[in-house]
Amino acid sequence: MSTILLEVATPDKGEVFSKEIGMLIVRSICGELGILPKHARLMTELVPHAMRIKDGGAESQLFVGGGFMEVTPDKITILADSAEKPEEIDTERARAAMNRAQERIENFKQSHDEQIDIGRAEAALARAKARLLVKGEHIG
Ligand code: ATP
Repeated sequence: MSTILLEVATPDKGEVFSKEIGMLIVRSICGELGILPKHARLMTELVPHAMRIKDGGAESQLFVGGGFMEVTPDKITILADSAEKPEEIDTERARAAMNRAQERIENFKQSHDEQIDIGRAEAALARAKARLLVKGEHIG
């Protein structure tokens, strides 16, 4: 089976993931992409989501809070704003972040309070939901 090296790093933690994999499925600002070995060169921006990593018959997930991805035929490099393996995710923290973001969005809808940064709240909500998804949590 041919493989491609996946390297994920964040400013906070440095290297988070580095391994030869069979396939990566990511969500970019242009939509979902499946990256196989020998993929054409590509650079794009990622949105917060749960990346899917296929390795032989196994599939795992890795949370990525947005960032940049560069693909060459033998390597995928992701510089992420934040990234966590499932076991690194604090479920309670993610749930609290989701509740906070939902409250801010609700307040904004009712008051149109210009102090509330709605884009920031929506991005925080997307990160929290993706983290809970990786943990297999019900998000309603
Ligand atoms: P919060 O409001 O809880 O800080 P956030 O989405 O704003 O969440 P980020 O800016 O994406 O947080 O990440 C900041 C740092 O905290 C990163 O190092 C990230 O890996 C870590 N982090 C954030 N949320 C969690 C979580 N639920 N579990 C584990 N690590 C987390």
